[in-house]
Formats: sequence, C-alpha cells, structure tokens
Amino acid sequence: MQMLLKGDYFNGKFTHPEGLVNLSTAQEKILKNCPGELTHKLWEAGVFYDHIEKSIESAQKGFDTWRKLSFEQRVSYLKKYQEIVRARKDEIAMALALEVGKPLWEAKTEAAALDSKVSVTISDSLERIKQETIKEVMPKIDGHVVYKPLGPCFVIGPFNFPCHLANGQILSALLAGNSIIFKPSEKTIYSAQLMIECFHQAGFPEGVINFINGTGLTAGKITGDKRIRGVFFTGSKAIGLKILENTYTDLGKLVALELGGKNSTIIHHDTNMSHALPELLRACFLTTGQRCTSTSMILIHRKIEQEFISQFKALTERITVGHPTKSNDPFMGPLIDAHAEKLYFDFCQFGKDEGAEEIISPRKLDIGFEGHYVSPSIHYAKKPDLKGKFIQEEIFGPNCFFVPYDDIEEAIKIANCTEYGLAASVFTRDPEIYKLCLRDIDSGLLNLNRSTVGATARLPFGGLKSSGNHRPAAVSMIDHCVSTVASLETLDDNSSKISDVVGLKE
Ligand code: NAD
Repeated sequence: MQMLLKGDYFNGKFTHPEGLVNLSTAQEKILKNCPGELTHKLWEAGVFYDHIEKSIESAQKGFDTWRKLSFEQRVSYLKKYQEIVRARKDEIAMALALEVGKPLWEAKTEAAALDSKVSVTISDSLERIKQETIKEVMPKIDGHVVYKPLGPCFVIGPFNFPCHLANGQILSALLAGNSIIFKPSEKTIYSAQLMIECFHQAGFPEGVINFINGTGLTAGKITGDKRIRGVFFTGSKAIGLKILENTYTDLGKLVALELGGKNSTIIHHDTNMSHALPELLRACFLTTGQRCTSTSMILIHRKIEQEFISQFKALTERITVGHPTKSNDPFMGPLIDAHAEKLYFDFCQFGKDEGAEEIISPRKLDIGFEGHYVSPSIHYAKKPDLKGKFIQEEIFGPNCFFVPYDDIEEAIKIANCTEYGLAASVFTRDPEIYKLCLRDIDSGLLNLNRSTVGATARLPFGGLKSSGNHRPAAVSMIDHCVSTVASLETLDDNSSKISDVVGLKE
C-alpha cells in the first residue's frame, strides 16, 4: 500500500502542501512497525494556518450550493459515496489498523460501518427532519414545521474511531443540507484522508466537504469562528469544556459534544456466566480499552464474586496481544502512543495507591515489533475510594476493576458515583432488577445482558452528566444538524377585520 499524504482539502481539491509527500519506504516501514507514531510526527510539521480561512470560505460557498438541493439530490450523492467507500473498504481498514493499532479484523468492522451508516442515515434519520404539516392547529390555520440546515459545520474527531464517528456526523450534517469542515485527530490523519478521498470521488459540489489537519490550535480557531454554525465534537471531556468556553458567547452556534465515559457493568447473582463472561471480556479490553464505551467498573454480586472473577481472570490471561496486521487475529493491538502507555501505567498505580488489589498486573510487552504493547490488567476494590482518581477518571487503556456488592441499590449507587454517564449494562434474568437500573442509573446507554460496547446506529448514542451535552449522536445526530422553523399558515386572507381589534380609538 502506497501511503500518500495529500494535505488539506478545500474548494474541491487536496492541496499537496510542500513537505507532505509520499511516505518514503523507510517511513512506511516505521509506521507499519510502530502504529500511530509516524503520522503524528509527520503532521506536526504539516499544519498550515492559512488554510483555516480558505477552508471556511470554501465551506461557505459549498453551503450556498448544497442547501438548495432537494433531499433526493443529496441522497443520490450520499449513495455514490457509499459505493466508493464500499469499494475501498479494505484499503481503509488497513490504514485504520496501522494508524490506530486496532487489529485488522476489528479495523474491517469500522471500515464496513462507513458503508452501512449511509443506509441507516437515509432510512432512519432523514424522516426526523422532513417538514411536517399539522392540520388545523388553530381554526382554519395549519401548522407547518421546517427544518433548515445550520450552515457550515465543523466536525472534530478522536483518534480511536477516526472514520466511523466522523462519518456518522458528516452524513447527518450533509443530508440536512450543511457543508462541513472535518478535522481528524492529529494521530490518525491518513485513514481520515482516505474517507475524504471517497467524498471527493463521489463528486460532491465544491466546498461541501472540506478537510483540515492540525492540532487544538487549528481546531480552536475554526470552532470560535462566527461563520461556523455547528460544532460536532467527539473526544475528551477536557477538550469538550474548552470548546464550550470558546463558543459560549455565540448563542446561535450549535455545539454537540460526545465525550468520555467511566462505564459500569453490574453482574447480578442470577447471571448466566457463560454468556456474561465473553460479553464482559470484549467490553473491557477490545480496542485495548480505548473505547468511550469500554467497561471500567464491574459491580459483582458477592454470592458469585469468587467464581466469576476466577473465570474472568483465566479468560483475560488468554488474551493475545499482537501486531495489528502482521499477527494472526490478535484480540488486541498496541495503545495509540507513548502518552497513552504512560497514562495506563499511572492509572494502575493510582488504583494500588487508593487501596485496590491487583488481580492481574499491567505489563509492558515485547512482541517483537516497536509499539506500545501492554497486557490487560484487573484490579479488585473491596471498599473503593469513591472520590479517588482511579474510580472517577477515564483510563482509556485495558484495565477493569471489580467491586463487590450485596444489594442492587448499593451497586447502583457505586455505578452513579462517577461524574460520567455514558454507558452501563446489567446482567440478570430478573426484569425487576433491570427496571430498577433503568430507573436509577444515570447513563445515556443502558443495556440488559449486552455489554457496554457495540452500539447500534439505529438508536441515539450519547451520554449524561460529563459524557455529553444532551445532543446524542447516531440516529438522532440529524436532530442537531438543523434549526427548527415553525409557521402558522392560512390561505384565508379575509378573516382579520379592523373592527375586531380591541382598544382602537374611534
Ligand atoms: P481528545 O479530546 O484528546 O482529542 C479529540 C480531538 O479534539 C482531536 O482531533 C484534537 O485535535 C481536538 N482538539 C484538541 N484541542 C482542541 C481544542 N482546543 N478545540 C477543539 N478541538 C481540539 O480525544 P482523543 O484522545 O482523540 O479521544 C479519546 C477521547 O474521546 C476519550 O475521552 C473518549 O472517551 C472520547 N470518545 C468519546 C466518544 C463518544 O461518542 N462519546 C467516542 C469516541 C471517543
């Protein structure tokens, strides 16, 4: 695979800025050995601030064309994109595996989701923004609701799903009539570029799609620009807060934040263990624990804790860690970079400092390739410090910890102790236990006998508390891509009379 970095994309063209060229064979070798590291370094040198203004102007022009098209016309562009992204899915999967470090089998599921998301956006989301008429909301007057696009929108992506998450936001924004500028994580620029190439090949009108590389500085300048009417962000709480600070004076700007999680799973005493164990294993450790929905805290009923934990430990010890493309279908690949590796070990240490016992200690692994390969780890916290860093903060690495409970209220209380509220799940055969969890756990996603990972595009996806700002993505993403206009309509222009006006002088 030849990896050509093409630069920013605006006015319908990639810019090929000086300095960003084909990766040399030596560079490709580094990337293939040490996923994540190289593109980051390359792009630090490849940020062009004069492209910010050009991208915004391009998005304004694109908006003016695109907003006037009918839904049918927009759908036909999206379908062209769908064909192209389907045809290029293997290439995209390879890029995702190398950049993020997720195993190729897993990267393929992300690449395939780009295609299926087009169909779901058209079949399930579009209905939500079709104009509606409500007959006779008042005598002889109809009510009419129109959903208008916002304008040029800015999509900011995280590193862990460089294509899939932005794709969902971009498709909804486009279908609603907005133009977009997309800034991917500086750690995963190449996969994101491939996705933009597919939009380019689909022949969208100039300026409808724009792509810019850079770090927080670039993102901050675009986010704060008055011409940007929607900001769709997926990433950490810390950056979400910066975006709010940067935009709060611009009241008409729509800001949708999809942020981090500290997700809990409750394993009740009546759980079918052979079902719950593999579900939980995937929830804790897939993508090396780098999913916003990864389970971090496992509330385990005291009656079954010994048996469950011992079986979970044995399964965890069987997890294979390997190179994302060269090893034979490993369970997980490396962490994204050195910083993530440091945080992982630091957090495991916080756990110990705050009194948790290590059931499996985290280890740095040498698997014969460069990269940030670590083992999964498990802690056990009999009486956790509910205010401690370990229990409060997102780890974003392959760690989980067990906390025993006696009654369900106690489990719910612990599940609610963190400031996050993204995903939770409960494993039980008792519908009453589930009902209690549904009523009392503060979480945007709550699954029964299904783990916290693996959401569907057909339901809303978003968190409560510090996990978001009540603008869930997935099927409901499109709701945040429009402004609502309500009209009272009548063709009867003869029903108001001056004589009916109260308080006029003779
Ligand atoms: P991050 O917050 O470090 O970076 C995300 C993006 O924000 C990057 O593109 C980055 O360049 C950009 N950015 C940095 N400074 C900015 C600024 N001042 N203004 C605007 N943008 C700025 O996140 P990450 O490490 O890439 O991803 C991991 C985080 O994302 C975790 O917290 C994870 O839980 C979260 N996440 C959430 C969801 C969700 O749907 N809720 C999904 C995936 C990941």
